[in-house]
Amino acid sequence: MKSVEQTLLDAVSLDAPWSLIETFAELPRWRPEDVNAASDVIAERLEALGVPAEVHRPEIFLSIPISASVEAAGETHRAKPPSMSVSVPDGLSGDLVYLGADLKNLRSYSKDVRELFGDSFTSWDEVRARIAGRILVTEGFGNPALTQLAEEWGAIGLISVNPGIDIHWGTCTTIWGTPDLDDLPRKPKIPVVAVNNPSGQALIALAKEGGRATIRTEMQEGWYPQGIPTVHIPGAVEPDKFVFVHGHYDSWDVGIGDNATGDATLLELARVLWHNRQSLRRSVRIAWWPGHSTGRYAGSTWYADAFALDLDENCVAQINCDSPGCRWATSYHQTTCMPEMKPFVTQVIEAVTGTTPRFKRPNQAGDYSFNNIGLSSYYMLSSTMPNELRAEKGYYDVSGCGGNIAWHTENDTLEIADRDVMMTDMKIYLLSVLRHANAAVLPADWTQATREFRATIAGYQEAAGERFDLGPADRATAALEQALDRLYAGVDGGTVSEDAANTVQMALARILVPLNFTAGPRFTHDPAYTAPPLPVLHAATELSDHGPDTIGFAKTQLMRGVNRYVAAINDARRLVEWAAP
Ligand SMILES: [Zn+2]
Repeated sequence: MKSVEQTLLDAVSLDAPWSLIETFAELPRWRPEDVNAASDVIAERLEALGVPAEVHRPEIFLSIPISASVEAAGETHRAKPPSMSVSVPDGLSGDLVYLGADLKNLRSYSKDVRELFGDSFTSWDEVRARIAGRILVTEGFGNPALTQLAEEWGAIGLISVNPGIDIHWGTCTTIWGTPDLDDLPRKPKIPVVAVNNPSGQALIALAKEGGRATIRTEMQEGWYPQGIPTVHIPGAVEPDKFVFVHGHYDSWDVGIGDNATGDATLLELARVLWHNRQSLRRSVRIAWWPGHSTGRYAGSTWYADAFALDLDENCVAQINCDSPGCRWATSYHQTTCMPEMKPFVTQVIEAVTGTTPRFKRPNQAGDYSFNNIGLSSYYMLSSTMPNELRAEKGYYDVSGCGGNIAWHTENDTLEIADRDVMMTDMKIYLLSVLRHANAAVLPADWTQATREFRATIAGYQEAAGERFDLGPADRATAALEQALDRLYAGVDGGTVSEDAANTVQMALARILVPLNFTAGPRFTHDPAYTAPPLPVLHAATELSDHGPDTIGFAKTQLMRGVNRYVAAINDARRLVEWAAP
């Protein structure tokens, strides 16, 4: 007799998913009305497949880029405004200034300016004086952190020069989802445009000659009702507890690799799991998000807020589905995964593909709107093209479409989807969800996390040197790790009940995921820029940048961070000791 796993894997078909991909190839999904039309399509397809769907219709805050241009030296350059740029339909003129250092990697003001700019500047005041009142031209995508810096330096506008001949859509806000009152001050206050490389080179040359330009942006900003199709597939044994799998269906233009392939994968998961729901121990919840591109994850953020207490109480893990099934994406060497899930995900990918994945720490992107609640998470990007192939094609780095540089451009069309890669990725997602829903003891190995935490603390300690002692953080983590070893030995030996183990596994996620990925409180949303590991301890790496004027402030921050870290780790240890004394 075939196993449940084999039966469900054999049931996976390209029929329904490929048909959705073909429909989406004709349906741009970034204007609010088109996004709602796509939501209707998903709901209709589910119904046709015999899967009951519920569609939520919240109002979310969006910024839709309509058009942009840059006029300079008698020429008009094509441009795209990132979402959340300020709208200046009548144009904004100013002197251009070019800074070519790797600004996008800039994290700390306290860094020595010479490290960034060589001998061009001797102080940050000089950098600010050069930029203030001008339009900054620099390389990159519509980078939110850079926009914030440009603003703080007094730039009146920002032109980001993309690496190739195409212009990529993007966003320039650091606010995660619909802003609350605390977030609003971070809303961008300057117009931002992206131009392609040839235009960028012309503008850089002009900036060096002291030239001027006029930026024009036209944005449509406001509150829009947007559909969120969801499917609830009840588990047969523990229906309250659920695995949560989701991805965005709004896209730039027709966005096939990002993310019609993901929408199609979710559709097939819904079909196979709904019709085999008697085989599920726990429930599975599936959601398709609007507002990913034009609201910086506003759809998933609304859901995270509206269902926060349900997610907190009942969600065993979140699995994000973005850009699977793309052309040439046959490699699993940058698969997104939190540390505690690595052994589980390794086994799934090995079972489906016969290859061992290599992992990437989840960055603050891809509808990971649940880190502050504290959900163990994996995927976002799953498959990508092999490095050799990327090098051979001369492709630059992009954040989706399996490495195809059609990402976030008009070229992300039907040819970006690949039937064979789709089949493999759909099976990876299906097997992940199935095993997660059916595991007797929830699959998280928290010793993988504590080992990573200790390595992080060791690195931070080395950077801090004699200036600060992170010993308390290290010792607390080591004690937690010992308790976890006892817990997992007790689970294997049958002295810890499945119920107790599962209670602890879920509760650990609520403590340790926020600690590893956020600095803000639970039930808020940290800013949308990449957080370093253990963010509340990260100030340790910056102590060496501080002189006598500011070192005291930095140490104060670090002391508070250590307190927060150690208290949380001790809570986690007491929880584990409760189950395995
Ligand atoms: Zn995407």
